[in-house]
Amino acid sequence: MQLRLPSSVSEAQRCLADGAVPIGGATLVWAGWQRDGFPEQAVSLRDLPEANAFGPEELGGAVPLHRVDATVPEVLHRAASGVGTGAVRRAATVGGNIVGSTLRCLLPAALVLDARATVLTADGVYETDLAELLAKRHVLLALRWRTPLVSGYRKLPGETGGPPPLVVAVAVHADGGAPGRVRVAVRDGYEVVSESTPYRTDAEQVLRDLADTTALSLPAPAQEALRREVADVLARAAA
Ligand SMILES: Cc1cc2nc3c(=O)[nH]c(=O)nc-3n(C[C@H](O)[C@H](O)[C@H](O)COP(=O)(O)OP(=O)(O)OC[C@H]3O[C@@H](n4cnc5c(N)ncnc54)[C@H](O)[C@@H]3O)c2cc1C
Repeated sequence: MQLRLPSSVSEAQRCLADGAVPIGGATLVWAGWQRDGFPEQAVSLRDLPEANAFGPEELGGAVPLHRVDATVPEVLHRAASGVGTGAVRRAATVGGNIVGSTLRCLLPAALVLDARATVLTADGVYETDLAELLAKRHVLLALRWRTPLVSGYRKLPGETGGPPPLVVAVAVHADGGAPGRVRVAVRDGYEVVSESTPYRTDAEQVLRDLADTTALSLPAPAQEALRREVADVLARAAA
């Protein structure tokens, strides 16, 4: 297998056009390749500046999860620090997690940040939403968002060999300087649902507003985890 390491977008596009398979830290693909055979070419974005963006409102697809620190909003930082083991986080990348994995612990965080994705295709670079990123499995160059007022993330303990642990992400976004909208996302099993509602100080009212939406009909344990996280984030937003 030839591993290509483009350092410009045009070079990366050529790799894709040549059929090179995108690769992050290879934490997921390696075992399959060893079993089924390696592709002729793979392309890593680790030398591409656009895929290494890192700041309070942007995160590159090639950034390894262990580098995702408090520079980014709390919800994303905590999501990244809760993935797998230290060894997995040192190798696994943002793009591999959100686009390439089934667990996608970072996805609920990206959804409540209302993040937009900059993607690379053989035709060019463009910006799209997370739904299209996942549906078309585009190559993720970077995520961008506006800093929320407050955010939070909760991952319940999981059982070895059991279903994926429940994940809850919440963020309060500003509207003209004041709290304006509450966004929530829940991963229950392998499914991720998200919803938003106007900000209110009363957590129970926010939960009632969310319960009125069809997307968020959750089983009792998930509702309880959501209740706690919404109450905590709203209390911090009010403070
Ligand atoms: C022991 C262990 C524990 C784990 N625990 C968790 C967990 O708790 N939560 C969780 O969410 N995940 C967990 N994972 C999965 C982990 O998130 C993935 O292994 C990792 O994110 C994949 O990233 P990677 O960079 O290694 O991807 P790779 O293995 O390199 O690639 C995986 C897939 O993603 C695609 N891909 C890679 N980069 C991009 C990109 N920039 N754009 C689009 N597609 C791309 C590849 O083409 C491939 O299809 C665990 C994995 C292991 C091994």
